[in-house]
Amino acid sequence: MLSIAHGPTGAFIASKINNPFISIPLILASHFLEDRVPHWDVGQGLTHQKKSKKSAFLQELFIDFPLSFLIVYLFFQVGRPFDYRPWLGWFFGLLPDFIEFPYLFLNFRGPLMKKFAAFHTWCHRSTSNKFWGLLPQFLVILLILLLK
Ligand SMILES: [Zn+2]
Repeated sequence: MLSIAHGPTGAFIASKINNPFISIPLILASHFLEDRVPHWDVGQGLTHQKKSKKSAFLQELFIDFPLSFLIVYLFFQVGRPFDYRPWLGWFFGLLPDFIEFPYLFLNFRGPLMKKFAAFHTWCHRSTSNKFWGLLPQFLVILLILLLK
């Protein structure tokens, strides 16, 4: 899924569960479970060369990534004193994508990285249909807004 789903999910879990030894593994598991739901993300089209790496990278950097930060800020920080937990959750929610970043964009292909990327790809279910691919992600954000 997009960072706008993964980041707030991590923030939500971390803000509800104080023990990081429980919340962090749950956040990481949530990332792979969310990726399992058919979705649209900025990487859509990369494998079939319908989109350049550069445009995927720019969409991630200037739209998806800052929006995930903004959602966490609006949902978990506005009107409250600074709390590190949503930000820790945001970070771990995005960590699998951070780890895969050098593989996808910098052609870093070490053996461990290849294994991780293969697992991540195995988890991924994507759709090129933007409506059906974005709907589950908006539902995730809405649910977090309602339950936070
Ligand atoms: Zn992912």
